[in-house]
Amino acid sequence: MTTSRPAMHLSPRCGARARAGTHCRAPAVRAKRRCRLHGGAEGSGAQPGNKNAFKHGFYSAQTEAERRRLRALMKAWRKAAVEMG
Ligand SMILES: [Zn+2]
Repeated sequence: MTTSRPAMHLSPRCGARARAGTHCRAPAVRAKRRCRLHGGAEGSGAQPGNKNAFKHGFYSAQTEAERRRLRALMKAWRKAAVEMG
């Protein structure tokens, strides 16, 4: 069983907040973000890729990437303006 240990330790962790103020470090259920005690149980949760909670897309990966890009651009502009005095 020693060969399977590294893979086990690399698997994504649950991360749910525990009562002690720490985080749950149990391995997350496959294809989910939480362990089986914290909402990752088989048959619970939404189908992968469902859009039921999608409202406007402000926090979607695409718009966040766009915001990041714009922020970097603004930063570069500000830096250039400062350097011009
Ligand atoms: Zn957990």
